[in-house]
Amino acid sequence: CIMEKMYVCSFNEGKKEMTDLLGLKGASLAEMTRIGIPVPYGFTITTEASRKYYGDGNLVDPLLEEEIRSKLEELEQVIGRRFGDPERPLLLAVRPSAPVRGLTLGRSILDVGLTRETVEPYARSLGDRTFALDCYARLIRTYSTAAYGMKKELFTDIVNGRMAASRVSSAADLSEEDEESLVQAYEELVRGANDGRFIPQDPKTQLMDAIVSGFDCWQAPEIRQWKKACGVPEDLGIAVTVQAMVFGNKDEHSGTGVAFTRNPVTGEKQICGEFFRKAQGEDISTNRAYPGSLEKMTAAFPEAKKNFIQVCNVLEEHYRDVQSVEFSVDAGRLYILQTASAGRTAQAAVKTAVDMVEEKLITRREAVMRLRTDQVEYLIHSRFSREDEDGATLIARGTPASPGAANGQIVFTAEDARQKKSRGISTILVCRDIAPEGLSGMRYADGVLTAAGSRSIYAASLAGGQGVCCVTDCPDLTIDEEQGLLRIGDAEFARGDYISISGFNGRVYDGRLTVQPPYDWDAFGKIMSWADSFRHLRVRVNADTPEDAALALRLGAEGVGLCRSERMFYNEERAAVMRRAVLAPSPAVRREMVQKMMEFQIRDFTEIFRIMCTRPVTIRLLDPSLSVFLIGAEDDFRTMASEWGISEEEVRERASSLYEVNQTMGERGVRVGIEYPDILSMQAEAIFRAAAAVAREMEKEPDPEILVPFVVSGRELAQVKKLIRDAASRVREEEERTVEYRLGSMIEVPRAALTAGEIAEEAEFFSFGTNDLTQLVMGLSREGSGHIVRKYRERKILDRDPFLTLDQEGVGRLMMYAVEAGRKTRPNLKAGICGTHAGDPDSIDFCSRIGLNYVSCQARQVPVARLAAAQADI
Ligand code: ADP
Ligand code: MG
Ligand code: MG
Repeated sequence: CIMEKMYVCSFNEGKKEMTDLLGLKGASLAEMTRIGIPVPYGFTITTEASRKYYGDGNLVDPLLEEEIRSKLEELEQVIGRRFGDPERPLLLAVRPSAPVRGLTLGRSILDVGLTRETVEPYARSLGDRTFALDCYARLIRTYSTAAYGMKKELFTDIVNGRMAASRVSSAADLSEEDEESLVQAYEELVRGANDGRFIPQDPKTQLMDAIVSGFDCWQAPEIRQWKKACGVPEDLGIAVTVQAMVFGNKDEHSGTGVAFTRNPVTGEKQICGEFFRKAQGEDISTNRAYPGSLEKMTAAFPEAKKNFIQVCNVLEEHYRDVQSVEFSVDAGRLYILQTASAGRTAQAAVKTAVDMVEEKLITRREAVMRLRTDQVEYLIHSRFSREDEDGATLIARGTPASPGAANGQIVFTAEDARQKKSRGISTILVCRDIAPEGLSGMRYADGVLTAAGSRSIYAASLAGGQGVCCVTDCPDLTIDEEQGLLRIGDAEFARGDYISISGFNGRVYDGRLTVQPPYDWDAFGKIMSWADSFRHLRVRVNADTPEDAALALRLGAEGVGLCRSERMFYNEERAAVMRRAVLAPSPAVRREMVQKMMEFQIRDFTEIFRIMCTRPVTIRLLDPSLSVFLIGAEDDFRTMASEWGISEEEVRERASSLYEVNQTMGERGVRVGIEYPDILSMQAEAIFRAAAAVAREMEKEPDPEILVPFVVSGRELAQVKKLIRDAASRVREEEERTVEYRLGSMIEVPRAALTAGEIAEEAEFFSFGTNDLTQLVMGLSREGSGHIVRKYRERKILDRDPFLTLDQEGVGRLMMYAVEAGRKTRPNLKAGICGTHAGDPDSIDFCSRIGLNYVSCQARQVPVARLAAAQADI
């Protein structure tokens, strides 16, 4: 193929790299021809030709017709038969060949070239009228389904009726009379459905129309939709391959099948597949023939089977990947009709990649590139089996917010979940929405199902962070907590009834589906360790609890990138202490409460330092407006009033003076520390005391980093820094130990990014809080703006949800600027990201490119991040 605009390309002119021009099928046929695999000869009409056809208002260029004619002559010479010849006709397969994966067109037309008239002399010359009629029947069937869009089932029904009438169990056993009546019934069916029209009875017209139907199918509405959904460019054409037929339906020494060079479910190195005796390709997708396993092939065609195994080995070695191979045996001779990289399960993807490295077929680099991040996600979470899901009763559909699968008894409160857990009962926590109070209880449940919320970051990060699978946005669901009832549509469930939810697809099922454990095995560990050797980006975890930190460590985290210290106060006992510190009527009470808070924090930090040993642990100082701890605490106000001997009114007044209209832009982040310096000093002291204690115990130094949230200026940091330094020297004196630490700033307010140069004077590292940063840069609320994002995506204003995948042009540009400005001030400034985006492969790729040092994601996302970071560097 030398010409720039090539319309037709013989099999011996192409190669596997030419998929853009020849489509995947056409390229595979050319490549196999090139390397000497037995392929029926033919030629491919290129995508270029189809583009020309579309461009000309769906008209065939006479030049193209001319080229086809000359290629057809060449083909006639190679095969030694003439197209349209009544006795020894060349019959053709016309097969559309898409240039992109993932689509089965099912529009190939077989046995092109036969007509009602020529089928009889053909039958006579063969001495087998049954076979000739079968070929003609197949032509009618494939032509009508492909070119007239008729349903395959209409034809299958007729075949099945005929089989029943003749009492045969396989279409291969139909008699000559049966085939004759099939042809007749088909013709009636086709005419009836097309205003009397029937398939062309002139071979040349048949061929050209078949080719055109191949072009046209690429513009069919359902294919258009598919292309759009997969982001296939509008102007990508389709190729159409024209190839000599081989006949798997000829006799008892013929057949057809598909096989995989390795098991596509388990990854085992063993050729497997299905084989149909006395059958042709499209029988694979109809139930016209009974499949046999490949073993049966050995018995029927020992020679062809031996050749086939050899061909499979050659193809796998040549393509260096698992292949799915379509083949036919024509009177004992093997022909290969297509080869393609095989689809496979996540488990098979890991196993085959690792095996192929060990067989020296591919490099480690390639193995790492072959694993998809969504497959890794699938491998590390528990799940239901496909069969179980297919057989289960679907009761509702929501949005998958956190992956995994769970079954359990319905509970409506975290407390209920906790109690059941202590008795070993699994639960699904069903609630209208996830509130911060629900947070600490969520981990007692096995799954969480909410009526409200799209895939809000909130639900996803909370549930995902705790390894709880979660389905949100299930509006059909109403909860009657008092009666202990859950209604979903017409169905009613009581507290304690079992349901099952899948955080992979958002489905809710009645009853208990078996949960399959996450896949945890050697091959997976191996490929992940190879991935680690290719990446420069470090992967840390957002962990607020020792459990999360421990889980993340098992999954390969290299430190804690974000430990949110406020999370530790999200339970009633500690929230009460926090409330008392904030509302304290006297300095003495205040001091007492702050002291108590410190004890809690020392305990928390100690455990996390122990788990992380010498790995870095970034602890973020209190972030939310402390008024969040006062909401819904009316009962406690009463208790406090009596504890302190003051009026309830007084407590309430103090509380309402702290009330803020907009907490997300209120007295939060570093502003808390500036308003309550004693609380900030307490936190710093707790960190240093915990670090000192663990250092003494381990005889190794923990590596604490203190992260200041919601910073907008270097001056804020300077004030905070002084308090922290004082706390450090206090601890140094009392513990007689110096704790090394670094001080860093969150970059989550646009001003911080814009003044990064000044902030870096005080901060030794940056951590990009991309959730808040996105919210503030885009002016889009991180909770409850799902409807805007949805509409904007429909209207093509946004391509992706900016809260899931980093907005590189906007937020990303600001990050890039901040990193650069920060490093101008402080060349060795460390920078990382701790927002939800840190678990998203595309965002990770961006972070890698702009020179961040680490990403910090949820525990469960650590393997995905490790892989994505490696792929970004390869
Ligand atoms: P699809 O893209 O839908 O898989 P194909 O073009 O691969 O369609 O054709 C479907 C089946 O038709 C093939 O698997 C094969 O068995 C049969 N087939 C295709 N080309 C030929 C041929 N030249 N001779 C015999 N059978 C063929
Ligand atoms: Mg195929
Ligand atoms: Mg934030």
